Amino acid sequence: MTDTAMATRNSLAIEDDWSGFVAGRYREGKSESEFRNYDAAVVPRVAEFYKTNHACQTLDFVLGKEEEYFALRKRAMSIWEAAEFLNTLVDESDPDTDLTQIEHLLQTSEAIRKDGHPRWMVLTGFIHDLGKVLCLYGEPQWAVVGDTFPVGCAYSDTIVFPEYFAQNPDMGVAEYQTQYGIYEPNCGLNNVHMSWGHDAYVAHVVRDYLPEPALYMLRYHSFYAWHQQGAYQHLVSDHDKEMLPWVKKFNPYDLYSKGAAKPNVKELKPWYDELIAEFFPDKLDW
Ligand code: FE
Ligand code: FE
Repeated sequence: MTDTAMATRNSLAIEDDWSGFVAGRYREGKSESEFRNYDAAVVPRVAEFYKTNHACQTLDFVLGKEEEYFALRKRAMSIWEAAEFLNTLVDESDPDTDLTQIEHLLQTSEAIRKDGHPRWMVLTGFIHDLGKVLCLYGEPQWAVVGDTFPVGCAYSDTIVFPEYFAQNPDMGVAEYQTQYGIYEPNCGLNNVHMSWGHDAYVAHVVRDYLPEPALYMLRYHSFYAWHQQGAYQHLVSDHDKEMLPWVKKFNPYDLYSKGAAKPNVKELKPWYDELIAEFFPDKLDW
């Protein structure tokens, strides 16, 4: 097996564990101790994943990835091509019970559509995980999926497995470990560097084509410490606060649409082709 194929298999291996983990962890109404008990009981692979993620997501690492990927020089793809490209991620587990990437995207977007939300939000549901093509460029899973969090300032203890930050080299940089770190009070999330992952990447690709609430949903959908735990109030701006309800509105569709019936990709494609054409050019730079 080639290295890329190996990385590909691994990245999906964690993903099923991880999405089940967040869906359980953030179920409404949990107390702090319930969070901890939940975390302690997770499969070792999830704990192992966060150990690496928290150790490796330094400010320097993030700045490097932003420079590399925000230049959008990887390839030109239509939205549907990106979805099909993402779908080439091979899943080792039972193909009968697990959803493909396109099926997860369509379940999310179809649930949004059924609830009568605006067309741009349905489209946001359909594209929200396209940034995971990072796996196919060879990025390790800890730099693609998982909760995201600000780097360059003190870590919130509401982030999952905060104890694993002890291994992050940024812990040794005093400037990065104050409450504000390298940031100004309430500077706004737009000015904050988030741990690198699929969220920031896809939001950047579509930034000129979708309304701002959509960009917030995309960019911060894995920032649980903010949208579920209410942390980082000292960094967010009034504008971020106005946008937060949109991010929260999106989250249940991502987490809890998975039980629904498998969407029929072939049947749905023409409707989505039209929706995509309404907002996007034929090809986008990725
Ligand atoms: Fe996601
Ligand atoms: Fe998702």
